[in-house]
Amino acid sequence: MASTAILAISYFLLASASILLTRFEGGAAFLWPATAPLFAFLVIRHPQEWFYPIAASGAASFAASSLFGLGPIFAVPLAIAIVAEAALPALLLRKIDADLSSFDNIPSLVKFILVAGIIGPAASGIVGAETIALRVGHDFWPNWRAWFAAHSLGTISIAPLLLLVMQGDGLAWLRASSVRNKIEAIALLLLVAATSFGVFEQREYPLLFLPMLPLIMTTFRLGRVGAAGAVVVLATIGGGLTLLGHGPISLMHGSIGARAQFFQFYLAIAVLMVLPVAAELRRREALVLTVRQTGAAYRLLAENLGDTLIHTSLDGDVRFASPAILELTGYKAADVVGRNSRNFVLAEDFAVFFAAREKAIAEPDRTTTIEYRAKVRDDVVIWCETRMRSYTNEKGTPIGVILVVRDVTARKAAEAELALEATTDALTGLPNRRAFFSRLRYLRQEVASGQGAGCIAIFDIDHFKTVNDTHGHASGDRVLATVAHVAQAAIRSGDMVARIGGEEFGMVLWGASIEAAMQTCERVRAAIAHAAVSSGPGANIRVTASFGAAAIRSGADDDAIYDAADQALYAAKASGRNRLRVAN
Ligand code: GH3
Ligand code: MG
Ligand code: MG
Repeated sequence: MASTAILAISYFLLASASILLTRFEGGAAFLWPATAPLFAFLVIRHPQEWFYPIAASGAASFAASSLFGLGPIFAVPLAIAIVAEAALPALLLRKIDADLSSFDNIPSLVKFILVAGIIGPAASGIVGAETIALRVGHDFWPNWRAWFAAHSLGTISIAPLLLLVMQGDGLAWLRASSVRNKIEAIALLLLVAATSFGVFEQREYPLLFLPMLPLIMTTFRLGRVGAAGAVVVLATIGGGLTLLGHGPISLMHGSIGARAQFFQFYLAIAVLMVLPVAAELRRREALVLTVRQTGAAYRLLAENLGDTLIHTSLDGDVRFASPAILELTGYKAADVVGRNSRNFVLAEDFAVFFAAREKAIAEPDRTTTIEYRAKVRDDVVIWCETRMRSYTNEKGTPIGVILVVRDVTARKAAEAELALEATTDALTGLPNRRAFFSRLRYLRQEVASGQGAGCIAIFDIDHFKTVNDTHGHASGDRVLATVAHVAQAAIRSGDMVARIGGEEFGMVLWGASIEAAMQTCERVRAAIAHAAVSSGPGANIRVTASFGAAAIRSGADDDAIYDAADQALYAAKASGRNRLRVAN
């Protein structure tokens, strides 16, 4: 309530002063600062709280016009027009989401100028100019022009400063600044004052541009509060001296009203010059603060992460590596920076690595995960699992890649071991049944596509049951291992011997004709027959095996080929064992 009263009183004083002092030609006042306080007052309050300030300002306007202006009757439309000039723009700016609370973004500043500085005064000017024309008799357009200029310039140059003051920005600045800051502020404002005085006290040179220098300096050093203070100093000294007839503006032709208006134009330009600078400075300050904070958080993470964090350029030149890289690669971060990531990726995995990087660069908001082998210190090869994503500049263009690298060599080894276990027979160390059939399938497909030839053979130990029964199961196991070893030694390196189950083994003979397969089987058979397994002091176990072989034919499926070999094996058993039969 008190603030509404202060608003109404200042509104009355400003309006009365404008009417009394600046209606130089009997028409519209040449200066109109009174809209600014009402506008600023409404902007920082919710529309629900607007009734009393509007009513009080309307009454103040009515009183001022009745007493000093056009009289009570004409004061009614004038009061309505003038109050609407503040209220409607304030409402419209709220509707289009212009945030004028701190003038720290440029789009809002532009909206403010358009709505409160141009549309508002232009519209109220229609009522104002018509009213004055009716009462005083001047033409509509000169009245409108004078009205528009006075109201537009008044609002643009004063409202931003009032908004800062009303929100306590000045007080906040005072509280937050050190003694050094305050001394600097005083020095800068004194500089603005001295320059303003120097420029507006003389009328020899048109030095109106000169105060802009300390004004901009103050803005850079002190931000928008400093800018506001500097504008107030310039307005007081420059405006005062101009009204007293001093300074470069007094060299102008034209009435005192025109000069006053020119000074206000000058001031509005000064405000429009410093406010965007202050806004941009503030935005950058906020940005720097965010960068500092994220930077600190980031360093903390990078230094404590088990994984290694690496930044590279788009070409892969390392710009940063976290300390964990020492453990990962054996190199210190400093030794890696400046080198290209290509140097650390195993050539065989270039394709995977570069494809992932391309993808990360193409889709900056996605993380790409890959596994590849890296070459680290002393040419050691490790498996890495790497998450990468690119980061962009303000325009959204990728400018670098961030990688989080983890050593997964142990996991890879475990996986490889598992894969091996899945295809290896534990007792003999030979490939197992699954491996045998997968090799058979592969070779059969090759044969079917006309690419190769081959045979399989299966063999089964003769009377193995007796071995177990006589020497025990453990000895039987040792016999199996020996047979496996002997058979493995007797075949060519490209061939495979696998344990298919029990005491039955299979061979896949790559590229072998049936004659070649027969020779191989014969070598294996003889080797088994000659091998001996010790079963205690002076006692050896000897075993023989029977063989069945079959060619891999393109028409047959795996089971049919296997069955053919099995039939042959059965025939070998039937005809006396320790021999080979070939399927026909
Ligand atoms: P044939 O000459 O007809 O092949 O006679 P065989 O005794 O070898 O015949 P059969 O297939 O009936 O016997 C196989 C024996 O192999 C039976 C089983 O106890 C034994 N056996 C199977 N797997 C293992 C093993 O892993 N370890 C041992 N020690 N014995 C096994
Ligand atoms: Mg057997
Ligand atoms: Mg058997």
